[in-house]
Amino acid sequence: MLKKLMITFISLAILLGGVWYFIKHQSATSSQAGDKLKVVTTNSILEDMVKQVAGDKVTLYSIVPRGVDPHEYDPKPSDISATTQADLIFHNGLNLETGGSGWFKKLIKTAHKTDGEAVFAASTQVTPMYLTTNTAEQDPHAWLDLSNGIKYVRAITDVLKQKDSKNASYYQNRSEAYVAKLEQLDATAKEKFLDIPEAQRLLVTSEGAFKYFSKAYHVTPAYIWEINTESQGTPEQMVIVLAKIKASQVKALFVETSVSPKSMTQVSKETGIPITSKIFTDSLAKKGQTGDTYYDMMKWNLDKIHQGLSGGV
Ligand SMILES: [Zn+2]
Repeated sequence: MLKKLMITFISLAILLGGVWYFIKHQSATSSQAGDKLKVVTTNSILEDMVKQVAGDKVTLYSIVPRGVDPHEYDPKPSDISATTQADLIFHNGLNLETGGSGWFKKLIKTAHKTDGEAVFAASTQVTPMYLTTNTAEQDPHAWLDLSNGIKYVRAITDVLKQKDSKNASYYQNRSEAYVAKLEQLDATAKEKFLDIPEAQRLLVTSEGAFKYFSKAYHVTPAYIWEINTESQGTPEQMVIVLAKIKASQVKALFVETSVSPKSMTQVSKETGIPITSKIFTDSLAKKGQTGDTYYDMMKWNLDKIHQGLSGGV
């Protein structure tokens, strides 16, 4: 009888211990996930910048898929739900997600989020450039100049520190190390194209995304259409870009990963100048592929553009 009681008691103790362990473990996991700041970014470039600064201290969701144009986008139900639940939402600003149909403005309205409280533009510290065709509209592609990318990283860091002060020094340290790496690449980029004759230094792309880049790194931008929110590859646009190419001694054309290559292929056929590389503008490469971080995308662009304009393939 005593033996039987002992066995029952021991079994009960083991069972209770198991239940206690299960409850403790469950609550620890859920409170860890619950404590983390929920951050949403509109595109993969901002996603990577937040990831570099915040590491695994935040839960990160990015809206526009890699390889897809962020100027115009139709949010999915999962995007709306993530934005509604987010503590922080970073967008580019400068007429990117807010230009054209203004999909981002509609999204934050649907998600009941307020600018300056939960919604922040990463570009706030940037001096904007304007479109040539419509000088009232800002050109969004500021991140293609690394010194602006650094301003994005600093703005993101400030907001993260403010919203999640217990991890402030963690964010600050990672941010400083990341900025130092970007500064180094920017310094090499400023000298990079000066060994190419000026008549060859024409950077021809489909969208005119390289105004900031061209100004920073001493190349001249040429494009078929100025911004992805306008008609792409009209006969008038083709005439203008062909004339610019013929007036130069350019040896290479480029096509962006997030646009259709159709128009640039046509330009290549008409001029006999090869498209020497794809380059990244509005999106990073898919995870695991070359160009899947902001640093790598910029490094790829600088190397491939230099190689092409020099006459190499
Ligand atoms: Zn663009």
